Amino acid sequence: MTPVSGPAGPATTLPGRVALVGSGVIGAGWAARFLLNGIDVAVYDPDPELARKLEAVLANARRAWGRLFPRTPVREGRLEIAPSIAVAVRETGFVQESLPEREDLKRRELAEIERHAPAEAIIASSTSGLLPSRLQAGMAHPDRFVVGHPFNPVYLLPLVEVCGGDATDAVTSQRAASLYRALGMHPLLVGKEIDGFIADRLLEALWREALWLVRDGVATTEEIDDAICYGAGLRWSFMGTFLIYRLAGGEAGMRHFLAQFGPTLKLPWTRLEAPELTEVLIDRIAAQSDAQARGVSVRELERRRDDCLVAVLDALRTQNYAAGAVLATPAHAAADIKATPLSLHAAEVAPDWIDYNGHMTEHRYLQVFSDAAAALLHHAGMDACYLEETGSFFTVETHLRHLAEARQGTGLHVTTQLLDFDGKRLHLFHRLVRDIDATLLATAEQMLLHVDAASRRTAEASGALAARLRALAAEQAKLAWPDAAGQLVGGRPKM
Ligand code: NAD
Repeated sequence: MTPVSGPAGPATTLPGRVALVGSGVIGAGWAARFLLNGIDVAVYDPDPELARKLEAVLANARRAWGRLFPRTPVREGRLEIAPSIAVAVRETGFVQESLPEREDLKRRELAEIERHAPAEAIIASSTSGLLPSRLQAGMAHPDRFVVGHPFNPVYLLPLVEVCGGDATDAVTSQRAASLYRALGMHPLLVGKEIDGFIADRLLEALWREALWLVRDGVATTEEIDDAICYGAGLRWSFMGTFLIYRLAGGEAGMRHFLAQFGPTLKLPWTRLEAPELTEVLIDRIAAQSDAQARGVSVRELERRRDDCLVAVLDALRTQNYAAGAVLATPAHAAADIKATPLSLHAAEVAPDWIDYNGHMTEHRYLQVFSDAAAALLHHAGMDACYLEETGSFFTVETHLRHLAEARQGTGLHVTTQLLDFDGKRLHLFHRLVRDIDATLLATAEQMLLHVDAASRRTAEASGALAARLRALAAEQAKLAWPDAAGQLVGGRPKM
């Protein structure tokens, strides 16, 4: 069990075993996300080809995670294919239902899940837009039901919309959100129940418009996709429509944008009623989509999608922005307490990191070492919830030593040793190492102070994070004290 800090305040725990009911596109994606986070998964799905399909999705997911977390060894959970819902959901704290989008079927199987799952288990549904109040209506204990609507591929996209129904207990939504957060996801709490939630209402509007454009012969499926991915799609990966339009208003921002483009809202630019899906339209879309795929298989296209997503997420991670800011190392890694310096951060010397001497400029060293400190805190379990509700670490002192040159394109990694942690002060020693020949390029010694989220004053760290940092520090105290630690600039005290 890996403790995580939940939005409700008290620590919640990641279940050691979860149950998945329905394992098509979405269920298999959930299986990958849980397993790669080290959690055991029991799956029930009557599809006779279940094992083969699951393995194909898992293979793609492992490949993507190998690229996204290149230096974090993944210790996968155990996969069990269960013969029935009853067997799948016993002895679990969390069930994720990903059945076909049919209300009658979901309601029937939710009742079956509830009959066999432990009383304290949360039951979540992946539904894209069915109302939770309707899905939970026939349940004996609807308080433990919540929607957790993910996005495909579930093992890479962090967004999950969390929406309770009338009878959902607020604690259920909070515990589900904590669990998803601990899986490296971004739970978006949908406060007002609505068909399609937030994201699918937006996607559906675009989709309906796109169908009209195909039906009216304005554009092909490929041209419509080009109109998205060469332009707005690139922006949408880090800024949503409102922020983007604020910028489109220039320095005067949103008011100017609304004044300038408000009148177009009256023009006949969109049609939100969907066109009739006639056989002719279906044939046209399917034929154009086949032409667009150019014979590349769905699994192959999935790998291309995953590689591009990993590249985008990786880039956003360097900006510590949007989805890049929620990327944590896998949950199970946080449990690794070892008497070795931790290798949690890697980078490559980018062209704009080079100064007039032709090597990495000074402030990039600070960036790399502070990213390594942030990676250590993630590793120890610091998450958005802890930052918001409890506190953070502020760096109060850094001593950098530059030992060898780092040229453009050089692959680097940082190892981090915890010298001490007394509850408030966290004393770190980092080594920056060239990948290719293990040359030590630089070291950094840092002192960080724990600060209370509300008062912004120094305070004791608390909960699972403090416990894990203490355990790490105790284990790493067995390591030799680095020669360069505790030195003054110049290497010796002033006479
Ligand atoms: P899918 O058709 O790919 O998978 C459904 C799976 O359920 C199939 O493998 C099927 O064999 C299985 N199944 C059918 N009856 C079952 C039963 N009685 N017990 C157990 N398994 C059963 O569908 P999907 O795209 O994975 O969608 C699943 C859910 O996730 C839906 O509610 C959907 O709205 C939602 N969702 C889908 C997407 C998406 O992009 N596909 C995204 C987010 C959410």
